[in-house]
Amino acid sequence: MYEYVGAIHIHSTYSDGTGEIPDIARAASEVGLDFIMLSDHNSLKAKKDGWEGWRDDVMVLIGYEINDRADRNHYLAFGLDTTVGVRITAQEYVRRVKERGGVGFLAHPDEKRSSMPEHPPYPWLAWDSEDFDGIEIWNHMSEWMEGLTEENKIQRFLHPLKSITAPPVETLQRWDALNRTRRVTAIGGVDAHAHKSDVLGFFEVEVFPYKVMFRSIHTHVLLEEPLHRGEAEHFEADKWRLYHALRDGRSFVANCYHADPKGFEFFATSGRRKHLPGSLIEFPGKEAVKLTAKTPFRADLRLIWNGNVVLETASRELSYKVLTPGAYRVEAWLDGKGWIYSNHIRIGDAGGAC
Ligand SMILES: [Zn+2]
Ligand SMILES: [Zn+2]
Repeated sequence: MYEYVGAIHIHSTYSDGTGEIPDIARAASEVGLDFIMLSDHNSLKAKKDGWEGWRDDVMVLIGYEINDRADRNHYLAFGLDTTVGVRITAQEYVRRVKERGGVGFLAHPDEKRSSMPEHPPYPWLAWDSEDFDGIEIWNHMSEWMEGLTEENKIQRFLHPLKSITAPPVETLQRWDALNRTRRVTAIGGVDAHAHKSDVLGFFEVEVFPYKVMFRSIHTHVLLEEPLHRGEAEHFEADKWRLYHALRDGRSFVANCYHADPKGFEFFATSGRRKHLPGSLIEFPGKEAVKLTAKTPFRADLRLIWNGNVVLETASRELSYKVLTPGAYRVEAWLDGKGWIYSNHIRIGDAGGAC
């Protein structure tokens, strides 16, 4: 498989971000990202203006972030040429994105931040929606703001990457529960705006420069064939391969600030067949099923089954013989901080046995 690294959930001057798209793409290129996925609020104008495509060796993909009338239920939609309408409910926009062939992810579903009145929380409340493809399990901006206090404020503004620990537990629990009945995949979001603020009291600073934010939460995508880097004629086909890999779970989320996770693998084997995350494996089948995870560095590896840790080891490799159906995924931790989060491999009948 070919592994590509990207940053998802980025705002530009097309909504409330401070960066122009060429500058954001250059920042991504300088930190070595392969793709970025922009999501300005309620607008696809950046796409209409022709900014989607290869820039500085980076694949620039443009979706948008939808919200409902009460500014709740933020939804990241990609793969659309026009917006799906305003003044509609979350259930309706989730449904329309899917109907039009787009790919959609719930944004910061358990956001609780309260430290800055001008940035209230925007949690997901419409849990009866059924058509979303995935969840943003980790949002840099939400976590950073939720831990902000008067005492740690200066430290956090000066070192925005150091304060990131792990995705919210309740989001992981919801995600595990959903995967017991259907595939719901994960993305990591930076929610980069590069806000300017005078919060330190003496001069205005750019709080989260794009280049700094691009060194934190990444989403890695695995493709069977390489991308045609810089080749405009292959862009559309490459874009859809990448979107479908995200939708289907051939991806993982990692905080690259701790260590480079490139090369991480989680897979199941049954006989001579290899199954990647996003797969549903028949159980019991003719062959025994074995799970394997490998990390490029020694880490605290945890195998999660239906939301419970069933195996934990400090190693570069984990293996497990499956005796019970369910939704399995892997987490890797380094020095008490979340590093890598795989998607689920689902074993057993969808909708029942798990
Ligand atoms: Zn949002
Ligand atoms: Zn956002």
